[in-house]
Amino acid sequence: MPHEAAFLKLIYLAAAVLFILGLKGLAHPRTALRGNLLAALGMLLAIVVTLTDHRIVDFRIIIAGFVVGGLSSAILAYRAPMTAMPQVVAVFNGLGGGASALAVGAAFEEALRGEWIEAITIQFSASAAAAALVGAVAFTGSAVAFGKLQGVMQEKPVLLPGRHAVNVTLLVACVVLSAWHVWGYTPFLFAASPSAAEELSRGVAAAELRQEFHSRGIELSPELHIKPAGENEWHITDPTNKVTYEARLQDGRLGIHGRSALPFWIMVAVALVLGVLLVIPIGGADMPVVISLLNAYSGIAAAGHGWVLNNSVLIVAGSLVGAAGFILTALMCKAMNRSLANVAFAGVGAEVSTATESEDIYAGKVKSASAEEVALMLDGARRVVIAPGYGLAVSRGQYAVQDLTKALEAKGVEVEFAIHPVAGRMPGHMNVLLAEVNIPYEKLKTMEEINPTFRQTDVVLVVGANDVVNPMARNADPSIPIAGMPILDVDQARSVVVIKRSLSPGFAGIANPLFAADNTLMLFGDAKKALTDLVVALKET
Ligand code: NAP
Repeated sequence: MPHEAAFLKLIYLAAAVLFILGLKGLAHPRTALRGNLLAALGMLLAIVVTLTDHRIVDFRIIIAGFVVGGLSSAILAYRAPMTAMPQVVAVFNGLGGGASALAVGAAFEEALRGEWIEAITIQFSASAAAAALVGAVAFTGSAVAFGKLQGVMQEKPVLLPGRHAVNVTLLVACVVLSAWHVWGYTPFLFAASPSAAEELSRGVAAAELRQEFHSRGIELSPELHIKPAGENEWHITDPTNKVTYEARLQDGRLGIHGRSALPFWIMVAVALVLGVLLVIPIGGADMPVVISLLNAYSGIAAAGHGWVLNNSVLIVAGSLVGAAGFILTALMCKAMNRSLANVAFAGVGAEVSTATESEDIYAGKVKSASAEEVALMLDGARRVVIAPGYGLAVSRGQYAVQDLTKALEAKGVEVEFAIHPVAGRMPGHMNVLLAEVNIPYEKLKTMEEINPTFRQTDVVLVVGANDVVNPMARNADPSIPIAGMPILDVDQARSVVVIKRSLSPGFAGIANPLFAADNTLMLFGDAKKALTDLVVALKET
């Protein structure tokens, strides 16, 4: 191995180690920042070293890509509010998958042009097919997920008739096209005269060869690029038909094997349609799981891209993203007590409750209270649990939560936080919000830890949460979008105070009987304002 290649591999190995250490660091809030920096450093190393590769011929395009891609993603990430992070992740996943599909396609086209057709091994073409299939599905699937979360598309599942059969057919079509792409086409063998081989060596296609193609319905163009590829082996590129043939002479017989990018690009087109059809039947409330799954897909596509280019750092980074995405998907499904098949195929959320149903649940039973009344309740409590949700993020009320926690603790009240795994709009959303205001990590309790303690809790303060505390989830009726999802059992506490602006439903679009429960009081208003009012009232009691 030349020194240069060994050095490249060594740096790639260092980058891979940094990715793994980074991922490990991300597993705990205390080490997450360092983990993120380590992974970013790994990526910087990988990029810089890749740019020293002598095969890179034009830095202008690379720099232009850096500037356009870097600037637009930085602007997107800075400008997007925290609540829109899932959409941002969907965009990045989709672009990653799409980029992998295009890059392997470009590598295949380049190889076909004859420059390095010898690189088209089974590993090369099979990895290219897998990366492009998964990358294309991730691209359009993520675009649909983005549309649903951003509200530019209907959030409810779109259940087309015969959708399962259509999807299976498209998948089979992708597999058949991939097989065609991997094995090439027009393989045939014929007894060639010695002059045919001699003419090929001079770069000329013998009339005899043209005749053989003609008898199989293929007209070779007058201008062919023929170049030797070893002893008694040639590559014949037909620029008009965009097919490259491998020709090999053995025992007086000339074997011909054609390769074209056509099956590859048709497969990509079918996979793009498949990505749309796989995601439209999934409801908006299940989008976190879908985004995590598509994240795993974009990782697989990147790993496949790495196999195509024989690039170890891409293989490692892609595999890490793929594995992490699948593990997160499994954890989220577990948190909702659903199987992945149920999320992907059941069309949960197609039917949501109507205004009349909400009316039935709430009529005459909802009690509201003022900040002063709630402050009095809190003042007399020994243990208070705060259950935050999406509304806290919308109102940016985390600093007010910090003030309220301090005010309660100053009065000797024990305060803990109930963190539901899918509260907010992205995994870990509530952890991030509360970490921003230095709420000690020990106070954040997972659903499993906090649920058994609600019976010993005097007051639960539900701040901008809805679906994750909705007792309807205990109902097994599959038409309820959150049926079977484990929830925070806040209704078991002595008193519940819900802070939100109205009786509007949450993400899943259904009414919440908790708001009408005997032990519940509603404190209507923006979460930040209501919490600030509570702090003021608490200090005055
Ligand atoms: P939710 O069910 O979406 O409910 C949020 C509630 O916040 C709404 O009912 C809204 O009621 C209230 N709200 C909005 N702005 C507010 C403000 N300024 N002040 C006070 N309240 C405000 O939220 P959740 O209980 O956190 O549940 C999360 C849901 O999102 C789940 O269905 C989950 O599957 C889904 N999801 C989760 C993720 C994830 O990864 N965590 C990602 C995407 C989707 P008002 O309008 O009446 O105020």
